[in-house]
Parts: sequence; structure tokens; C-alpha cells
Amino acid sequence: MIDWLIGLICSSLIAGIAWRKQSLSVSGAVAAVIVGTLLYALGGLPWYGTLMVFFLTSTLLTKWKHKRKAAVESNYAKSGRRDAGQVAANGGLGTLLCLGNSIWPHSLWWAAFIGVMAAVNADTWATEIGGLSRSLPRSIVSGRRVPAGTSGGITVAGLAASFCGGLLIGAAGWAFTSTGWGQPIGGSSAASIAVTTTMGFIGLLLLGALGGMAGSLSDSWLGAVLQVMYRCPVCGKEIEINRHCNDTQAVRIRGAVWMTNDAVNVISSAIGGAVSMGFIYLYL
Ligand SMILES: [Zn+2]
Repeated sequence: MIDWLIGLICSSLIAGIAWRKQSLSVSGAVAAVIVGTLLYALGGLPWYGTLMVFFLTSTLLTKWKHKRKAAVESNYAKSGRRDAGQVAANGGLGTLLCLGNSIWPHSLWWAAFIGVMAAVNADTWATEIGGLSRSLPRSIVSGRRVPAGTSGGITVAGLAASFCGGLLIGAAGWAFTSTGWGQPIGGSSAASIAVTTTMGFIGLLLLGALGGMAGSLSDSWLGAVLQVMYRCPVCGKEIEINRHCNDTQAVRIRGAVWMTNDAVNVISSAIGGAVSMGFIYLYL
């Protein structure tokens, strides 16, 4: 019971600050409190701490040089302020894995969680750091230069950022399971600690980097090929959102309506999780 309370208080504080700093909308803050409380209560510090490393670094990176990026981002679905959909897209899958682990503890849940969080972290880092790249991105599909901010556009800086973002999640997963902070709650943390004991620091780094790169590359590919795109009838721009220029309804030009940026994020993080889980399955 006390873990639910600690999780609720910590998550509310952090979400409250993020809301005040305009990093989360009201719905985003509520979703973040739910995700944070569940992860703390069901998984303890390893799961909660790894989520926090993602949340804090990606929030700070989004704030960083915000003005310069705002001009590029205005045509796309992402904005500095995350709503419930984006929080669910980034944290929902991880929460389900934690829930699964609390019901049936197994090390594969933790490996998948590292892959999922590495994927969302890598993708956010790639967007925020790659978005500042001076060279124009190239399409992951055609290899041709595309406008900055285009879904499916990749840069060397973005790829390097993905790799580092994945590594950091691996390092966080290692740190939160190896210092003795992890509280074994109903065996939930025991399975995650077992992974760290078996794989060690380098193994966890590899797990994070693999999940991160797999997730980030599939995000780019899905964004370029399957994601829904609209054209604004007023300004003629190709956009990811269905309303533009004074809330005018935009015309869908490709992709299924449900294949939004958030959906692409969820699918690609699932791929990141599957790759990390596959890796540990072969390794263990
Ligand atoms: Zn427009």
C-alpha cells in the first residue's frame, strides 16, 4: 500500500512540475501520474527509475533550443506539450509489460521493457537532436533529401542520438537494478535483477542500444511509408495532423486514418521491445 502512495506522490509532483513548465497538457499530466504510479507500485525503482530517465531527458531535450525547432515542428503532430495520447504512446506499452511482470514474474518482461523504453527514448532523442542537424535529412526509403522535420527523414546526428538514447536506457536499467535500491515487491523486481546479474553492464548497454536502434529505425520507416499524411487546402503543405491554418480540415493524401504519429510510436517501440526480448532469449 505504501508503494502506491509513494508512487502517487512522486509522480504527481513530477507531472505537476512538467505541467507548469508546459511540457505536459492537463490530460498528459493525468496520464503520466497513472503510468508513474503503476510502475512504482508494481515494479519498484528499476521500472520507475528507467521511465524517469526517459521522461526527464526527453523533456529537457524538447525544451532545449525550443524556438529554433518550433518553426519546423508547426507542420507536424508533435508539439512541446505532450498530451495523454503521447504519454500513452510512450509509456503505455511499458506499463503493460510491468503489469504482466507483476502477475507472472519473468526476466523477458524486463528485457522487453528495456527495449521499449530504449526505443521511445532513442526516437525522442533522434527527433530533438536530429532536428537541429544543419544538413537536410534523407528519406529512409528513397535516400533523397527531404525537408527538416519530415517523418521518415534521418540524419547522421539523429542516428547517433538514437544510439546514445538507447545506451542511456540500458545504463539506467543496469544502475537501478544493481545498486541494491530495487525493492523486490512480490518478486516483481527479482526478475529484472536476474537479467542484470546475468548480462552485466555491457550486456544491458547492448540491450538498450539494440532496442533503441531497432525502434528508432522502424519509427522512421513506418513514418515514411505507412503514417497518415494530410494536405492543408489553405497553405498546400503536407502535414501529419488533420487540421491546419485556422483549424481548416485537411485532405488525407495517404495512410490509414488510425496510423497517426502516436500509433507509429507504439508499433515501433513494440518492435524495439521484441528485438531486446529476442536478444535476451538467445543470450540466456
Ligand atoms: Zn495550412
